[in-house]
Order: sequence, then structure tokens, then C-alpha cells
Amino acid sequence: MKYAFFKGKIVPFAEAKISIMTHAFNYGTAVFEGIRAYWNQEQQQMYVLKNREHYERLQKSASAIKIKLAYSLEDMCRFTLELCKKNGYQEDIYIRPIAYKSQEKIGLGLTGIEDDFCIFVSPFGAYLDITKGIRVGISSWRRISDQSLPQGAKITGAYINSSLAKAEALEKGFDEAILLSPDGTVAEGSGENLYMVKNGELITPPLKEIILPGITRIAIMELAKQELGINTTERFIAKEELFSADELFFCGTGAQISPIIEVDKRKIKDGRVGPITKQLQDIYFKATRGDNPKYKSWVTPVY
Ligand code: PMP
Repeated sequence: MKYAFFKGKIVPFAEAKISIMTHAFNYGTAVFEGIRAYWNQEQQQMYVLKNREHYERLQKSASAIKIKLAYSLEDMCRFTLELCKKNGYQEDIYIRPIAYKSQEKIGLGLTGIEDDFCIFVSPFGAYLDITKGIRVGISSWRRISDQSLPQGAKITGAYINSSLAKAEALEKGFDEAILLSPDGTVAEGSGENLYMVKNGELITPPLKEIILPGITRIAIMELAKQELGINTTERFIAKEELFSADELFFCGTGAQISPIIEVDKRKIKDGRVGPITKQLQDIYFKATRGDNPKYKSWVTPVY
């Protein structure tokens, strides 16, 4: 974390500071993204994964809470590449753009308040285990209904829901949580989407289930179809169905593809990483690290 993008330019990280009176700090009025960039040792190159897609989602999130972005999609994509280059890392990193209500102002509301945009980057390995598989618990917290928050927007304030679920899971000795939607069907993890394999088919909850429209979720759908000839069905998943799944995994920018081997202490199948999950991981990591020419459009070189 040597440099950040802050108030319109790249500055030393230590200079990128906001006030304790900042609206976003007080009320959670910010939207954000999590982008990965993968270091390819053989190519001596770093690849930013789905840069444009993340900024398209950021634009949607920003408009959901009336944040005006001073920069175009192209500008933000370019700042990201410039910032990665300036930091000079030769390892996998995580990129965090934030658009926020930047004014020092007491009082709720979303209009008539200044906005700003910043980016920081940080070295980042695996967020969840990707080799042995993880143990998850079904959370007592449910996802927040779309009647209470705009659906599909990645709003910082909304992440108290994810944090409560994650904290509860860790307190109970699990690695991660599965949250149900307000009506009780399976939604997603605290920071990742969920896939189930059943009878050779892939199943994932539809966006109606109050889940974040994950960029990895779509990428997995594409890879499964193109490379393994497996279609994905988007449908409701009842909680009980999880226990009889052949395979389960989380996917997300941070989580990548993280196999789930236990739910609420009950083993999924034989409690080992399943073959479809493993195949998807192999294909996914080749594509994201810039080693598969077929998926070159997914990645943008930094150096
Ligand atoms: N759900 C939630 C709640 C998340 O925070 C994330 C991470 N952004 C995801 C799903 C996965 O989204 P993506 O694949 O775009 O990272």
C-alpha cells in the first residue's frame, strides 16, 4: 500500500485520509468494488480481472444512492491500471475503489452532498481456503430485503449484515456463513455467491434472491458452459437441499472458487472437494492469470 488514488490524483498512501465528520463514515453512504489483479510469474505481468465489469457495477451502485461520479468508466479503468503500475507489486493484489459521500456534514439524506472517489490496492492471497474446502454454517441473520435497500448495489452500510453473519460463523467455529433470503431460501455467503452441483447440473440462486449480482458468478456460468458443456440453472434452493448436494462451492472476486465440504457440521457427499469444483478451479485460475488466450478479454495487463 504505497500509493492510493485520492482527490483526483495518485498520492502516497499515508496522505489519503478522510475526516471523522465525513458523511460516508457516519452513515455508510458509500459504494465500493473489490477487484483482483493476478501476478503471472512466467510472463512477468500483472493482469487485472474484469476491470470494466467492476466499474460498470460501481456506476450502478453509485446511482442507487445518488452518488455522482466525476469520472467516466474509461477514466476509472485507467486510474486503476495507473495505480497498480505505480505500486509496482509483483504478487496478487486486491483493488478497492470507493465512491462516497465525502462532505463533512451532519444530517441524513443523499442529495446536495458532495461526492468523491478513491482507490487503494493491497497484496492479497486466498481470502477463503481453495484447496481443502471450508466448513460453513447457515446464519441466523438473513439478507436484507430489497424493500429495505436497493437490490444489486454494493453499498458499504449494507455490509453490517455480512459482517454480523461472518462474525457469527467464526464464533461458532465455521469458516464462513450461508445467508438465507428474507423468505428463507438459500441466498449467498457473506461476501460471495453460492453454486450447487446436483446430478451433473449446476444450480445457483437467481438474482431475485436478494444476492449481489456477482461478476464471478457470471464468469463461472460461462466457463462451465464453454469448457465443460454444463448448463447452469438459476432457481430457488431450499435450505434442506444443501445437505444432499453432490458439490457446493462459493465464488467471488475475493473467494475465487472455494469448495464447501460441510454445512452445519454435516458433510457434503464424502466431505472432499468434488470433481466439477476442481475442474472449474483449474480453468478459472488459468483464465484469470492470463494463461488462456481464449479468455484474454477478461484481463487487462498492467505493465
Ligand atoms: N456477494 C456479496 C455479498 C459480495 O460482497 C460479493 C463480492 N463482491 C459477491 C457476492 C461476489 O461478487 P463478485 O463475484 O463480483 O466479486
